[in-house]
Amino acid sequence: MVQDKVALVTGASRGIGRSISLALAGQGAKIVAVDIDLQATEAFVTELKALGTDAVAVQGNVTIAADVERMVNVAKENFGRVDILVNNAGITRDALLLRMKDEDWDAVLDVNLKGAFLCTRAVAKLMTKQRSGRIINIASVVGQMGNAGQANYCASKAGLMGLTRSNARELAKRNITVNAVAPGFIATDMTDALPEQVRAELAAQIPLERLGSADDIAHTVLFLASDQAGYITGQVIGVNGGMYM
Ligand code: NAP
Repeated sequence: MVQDKVALVTGASRGIGRSISLALAGQGAKIVAVDIDLQATEAFVTELKALGTDAVAVQGNVTIAADVERMVNVAKENFGRVDILVNNAGITRDALLLRMKDEDWDAVLDVNLKGAFLCTRAVAKLMTKQRSGRIINIASVVGQMGNAGQANYCASKAGLMGLTRSNARELAKRNITVNAVAPGFIATDMTDALPEQVRAELAAQIPLERLGSADDIAHTVLFLASDQAGYITGQVIGVNGGMYM
C-alpha cells in the first residue's frame, strides 16, 4: 500500500517516470513530479490532479545540488515529508569507445549517477529523521551485461547498482530500504519508430520474445515502494523478459 505516501519521482513527465508516477498515484500516493522541462512537468501535474491526485510540479536539474535542495524543500512545504524517492531521470549519449567525447562521458555520468547521489543525499536527510523510507533507482540491464557503444551509460548504471548497495547498508538501521530496478528493452516512442525488422531482432534476444512496457517497470517500483516489500533492500530486480539471468 502506498496510500497517502509522498513520492518524489525524477524525470516524471514522460516515458517510464510518467508510468511510475501514474502507478503510484493510482494507489493513492501524493506525487512530487520533478523534471527538467517546466511546461511538461506542469502539464503532467495538471493531468494527475484531474485524476484526483495530490501533486506538485518542480522544475529542476538533478545534476545541480541547489535544484535538488529546492525539490526537497517543495516536497516539505507541500506535504511535510518524502516517503518514496524514485531516481528515474536518465540520459544516453551513445558512441563507440574510440569516438566517445569527454563531454558525452561526463553528461551521462552526471545525470545518471551523480544525479541519483545528490537526490538520495538530500532526501535521505529527511527519511533519516522520519525513520522510514523507500529509495528506488532505475538502472538498466546493460549495466549488468555491457553494451557496445554505451560505455558511459553502462558504467553509470553499474555505478548506480553499487550506490544502491552501499546506501542500502548505510540506511538500513533507519528503516530505509534502497533497491534498484534494472529494465531490459522497454517499448518507448523511440523503439516504436524502429522498422519492424529491427524490433523483431531486439525481441529475438529476449526469452519472453517481446519488449517490456513502461508499466512492467512501474508495477515493480510500486511493489518495492509498498509495505509488502519492507524486507527487501540492496537488491537489483531485473525486469527484462529473461534477457539477463
Ligand atoms: P525518457 O523518456 O528520456 O525520460 C527521461 C526523463 O528524464 C525526461 O523527462 C527527461 O527530461 C528527464 N531528465 C533528463 N535529464 C534530467 C535532469 N538532468 N534532471 C531532471 N530530469 C531529467 O527516458 P525513459 O526511457 O523513460 O527512461 C527512464 C529511466 O529508465 C532512465 O534512467 C533510463 O536510463 C532507464 N531505462 C530505460 C530503458 C528503456 O528502454 N527506455 C531501459 C533501461 C533503463 P527531457 O526529456 O526534457 O530531457
